[in-house]
Amino acid sequence: MAATRIPLVAGNWKMNFDHLEATYFVQKLAWLLRDARFDYRRCEIALMPPFTSLRSVQVLVEADKLSMHYGAQSVSVTTQGAFTGDVSADMLARLGCRYVIVGHSERRKYHPEDDANIVDQVRAVLTAGMQPILCVGESFEERRQGIQLEFAVGQVHDVTRDLSDAEAARLIVAYEPVWAIGTGMVATPQTAQDAAKAIRDDLRETFGAQVAEGVRILYGGSVTSDNAAELIEEADVDGFLIGGASLDVEELSRIARLT
Ligand code: PGA
Repeated sequence: MAATRIPLVAGNWKMNFDHLEATYFVQKLAWLLRDARFDYRRCEIALMPPFTSLRSVQVLVEADKLSMHYGAQSVSVTTQGAFTGDVSADMLARLGCRYVIVGHSERRKYHPEDDANIVDQVRAVLTAGMQPILCVGESFEERRQGIQLEFAVGQVHDVTRDLSDAEAARLIVAYEPVWAIGTGMVATPQTAQDAAKAIRDDLRETFGAQVAEGVRILYGGSVTSDNAAELIEEADVDGFLIGGASLDVEELSRIARLT
């Protein structure tokens, strides 16, 4: 990763941990990192719990002035009204969320989240003053066809083409090849770098060097403490979006220390 960008380690808890478990986790993570004299200015940490645990995480982070951030895993594209089951971007912003994951492959698969909806989610997150973590990445089939880079870049481009330079500068991209998510088949550092570089090159073409060099591009898919150190060596990989390994507090703290 380039020295000009601060790496981000984001734990995507998915549908795990109720608010009691979330409370325990945050306290334990804070203790572990304090004992390790972890420097939060060198590497940013964010937790992405289910909606029901956001308030508990907020209370802890604010009361104990913890230096970690938190956010949500998805958001409604509407602002308020008769939308049963939805949660708006303003509601998340009022809980102190800094980030919202948008377009995770599990959301694209299990919910009607198509490209247009994902563009609207990004817009909603930005309008509410938060930062979207936009997930992109090819399935095994696109990789087999050799079109993985065009595919991932295309997914980013579909979202960014309507953004202003200032909006694009607040974007975070997570390159998460679908075949690597939850499978134990982590991408090689070269594969992660190739995709991150292709995405950054496209951002540079659309928004210029200053925006492109500032946007953080994360890698996600079977990240563990065994592979994090070599992945973060790559010039365009600026941190991780971590699923399974983020449910183990010792493991997450190890990854943060390696990043
Ligand atoms: P994984 O999930 O780390 O369990 O592969 C990553 C993700 O889905 O964001």
